[in-house]
Amino acid sequence: MSASEPIASDADGKPDATPPICLACIGDHALRARLSTAAHRITCRYCGRTRRGVTLATLAAEVDEPLREFCVQGATVNQGATVKRYSAESDASWWEQEGEDLEEFLQNELEIDMQAASDLSDLLVANDPAWPPDGEEAFFDAGQRYHRAPATYIAGGQYSEAWSDFASRITHERRFFDAETTEHLGQILGTRGSPKAKSLPVLELGPGLPHTSVFRARCVFRRSAV
Ligand SMILES: [Zn+2]
Repeated sequence: MSASEPIASDADGKPDATPPICLACIGDHALRARLSTAAHRITCRYCGRTRRGVTLATLAAEVDEPLREFCVQGATVNQGATVKRYSAESDASWWEQEGEDLEEFLQNELEIDMQAASDLSDLLVANDPAWPPDGEEAFFDAGQRYHRAPATYIAGGQYSEAWSDFASRITHERRFFDAETTEHLGQILGTRGSPKAKSLPVLELGPGLPHTSVFRARCVFRRSAV
């Protein structure tokens, strides 16, 4: 191994033998940027090219916490799962846990290929610190399905009441913003002009104002993601 290919090691000082993945094989732009300081020259297990990348253990350590914070296991059938599946060959249908299996979920969220997602899934499951004999439930479990957490779940659910009041009023009662919906949003995002809302892009829309319409946009880094 050349000097440009340092051997990464884990917390115990043991060499990190997990497969290397190059940054170009990680489609999620923000994740790739976060990994760039840890990247070094490797030969990628997934595309075969020699370029900057990290080991799968480094990737797993980077995504472990955000996945736990922003994603949840889907509701199971016993918890009232609402996903109905239909057979392609017959009239049969059945109810299934919400979400995607862990490999598929990682593949879509991180924008990595199937084999990398499969290897990463194995690693996250193996490294999960939960100890089932003590009754702990592992977050990463190959038998579970996952989806993004609802907005109200994030930040420990502290905004869930304000959000459900807001959603219920704007969906079923007013259909437009009024003083009360503005107040609910203010509880979550901060009121306009307050320090909490300082970083928010605020644009006033309405009759008599320069802006009368709004377009919804999404930032993508590849045409195929449009
Ligand atoms: Zn690659």
